[in-house]
Amino acid sequence: MIIDMDECGVCEDCIDVCPNEAIKKKAYSIVINNDLCEDCEECVEVCPVGAIYKE
Ligand code: SF4
Ligand code: SF4
Repeated sequence: MIIDMDECGVCEDCIDVCPNEAIKKKAYSIVINNDLCEDCEECVEVCPVGAIYKE
C-alpha cells in the first residue's frame, strides 16, 4: 500500500481501522509497514480523501 502524503490530512482513521497495526503515525506523516499489511484494503475504504492506494 502507498500513502500520498500530499493528500493525507493525518486524520488517523486508517490507523484505527487496520487489523494488523500496520499503519503508524510518525511525526506529521503516516507510514505503512507493508510486511504487516495483508491487503485487506480497509484503510483504502475508510480514507476520506483517497490518499491510500494499492501499489
Ligand atoms: S490494507 Fe489492511 S492490513 Fe494493509 S495497511 Fe490497510 S488496513 Fe492495514
Ligand atoms: S485515513 Fe487517509 S487522510 Fe486519514 S490519516 Fe489515513 S491516509 Fe491520511
